[in-house]
Amino acid sequence: MNSIDEKLQPILTEVVRRNAGEPEFHQAVHEVLESLGRVVAKHPHYLDLALIERICEPERQIIFRIPWVDDQGRVQINRGFRVQFNSALGPYKGGMRFHPSVNVGIIKFLGFEQTFKNALTGMPIGGGKGGSDFDPKGKSDGEIMRFCQSLMTELHRHLGDQTDVPAGDIGVGGREIGYMFGQYKRLNNRFEAGVFTGKALAYGGSRARTEATGYGNTYFVQAMLGTKGTSFDGKTVVVSGSGNVAIYTIEKVQSFGGKVIACSDSSGYVLDEAGIDLDLLKEVKNVRRERIAEYARRRGAGAHFIPVGQGSIWDVPCQVAMPSATQNELSGKDAAQLVKSGVIAVGEGANMPSTPEAVKVFQDAGILFAPGKAANAGGVATSALEMQQNASRDSWTFEQTEKRLATIMRNIHDTCHATAEEYGAPGNYVLGANIAGFVRVAEAMRMLGVI
Ligand code: GLU
Repeated sequence: MNSIDEKLQPILTEVVRRNAGEPEFHQAVHEVLESLGRVVAKHPHYLDLALIERICEPERQIIFRIPWVDDQGRVQINRGFRVQFNSALGPYKGGMRFHPSVNVGIIKFLGFEQTFKNALTGMPIGGGKGGSDFDPKGKSDGEIMRFCQSLMTELHRHLGDQTDVPAGDIGVGGREIGYMFGQYKRLNNRFEAGVFTGKALAYGGSRARTEATGYGNTYFVQAMLGTKGTSFDGKTVVVSGSGNVAIYTIEKVQSFGGKVIACSDSSGYVLDEAGIDLDLLKEVKNVRRERIAEYARRRGAGAHFIPVGQGSIWDVPCQVAMPSATQNELSGKDAAQLVKSGVIAVGEGANMPSTPEAVKVFQDAGILFAPGKAANAGGVATSALEMQQNASRDSWTFEQTEKRLATIMRNIHDTCHATAEEYGAPGNYVLGANIAGFVRVAEAMRMLGVI
């Protein structure tokens, strides 16, 4: 990691002390503080009013028990979280993650990132995140429903369309959102559509929300490539993951003329030199909910499955890499391999998928690098558009919604680009995103007084 300004070091030391054993949260704070050295050098007033210290401390953290009954009649216990990080710009907004790795440190890192990401969208949304250590893999529909209902029986009292608005994340898609929203509606006796986003169209969802994160990342990278006079057309691309973000990244990259030759899940990756067959991938992952090896098996000759432990997806040579699986999935070694094989641009579809070492390798090599909090903001931006449609009891067309998404992504790109230049680091999108996001939140907090 790079070093941070000496005026900011005590803030990081205190964050680490107060949040012991939460390495992902420390990592996320470290990266932002690293960028803020240039801000406080230029505008020392940001050191006043403990603005930076307050931004690093969540406004509220909720941890609760989730008891539920499995199909064998046994009582199971999971732990639920909601970290309401910052509401200076609007109601807390951010997804729910269901994954066995979830703990308070992971939710805190995600909530922290979300605060800056949401600020970058320019929409009136604060930052929050939640989830559970529940593992949805292998669970029946009934088990998923009972779990979601139990979770919401506790969480509902902390939510509201003007208070806190969850959505999906890893392990939480349309099915889970439906069950959680249904239980919220029942407990409150209110059809409060704007309390959840990522809803199905049938009960107040937005068109293009499912596609938005992947499409948005692709728009962002396309804009970045444009600054070098090039585009996706004819480029070889690797997209890790095979969830919602990865699938719609592949779709958009293909429509821009790029060739995606690899994608993955937690069991391994597939290499398909002829280009990923998206219909087959959707069928395997979304309809059948199967492992990625099944894609290679059904695709036949030419497609290969490489199990975890027998190589990294980042060993596959490509010109554009779009990590869209999970945090810290791309190491310094992976980054060095990508640089060696000629990568020119990286767009993070997941939250913090590149380790600090990897980011440094990309930056030292002068690669175009789009950090997740800017590049994957299209999902939450479209969530804000969903809230807007719900508030006006309206429903927009796909084209209208995607057009707004494209404009928002272009604005985020241009803001990050211009901010990096203003602070003397042209082309450094990490710096641009961190500073632009911080300034928006900090300015609002300053005006709202010490709260
Ligand atoms: N989980 C997504 C993210 O990381 C979406 C959050 C939302 O739509 O509220 O940004």
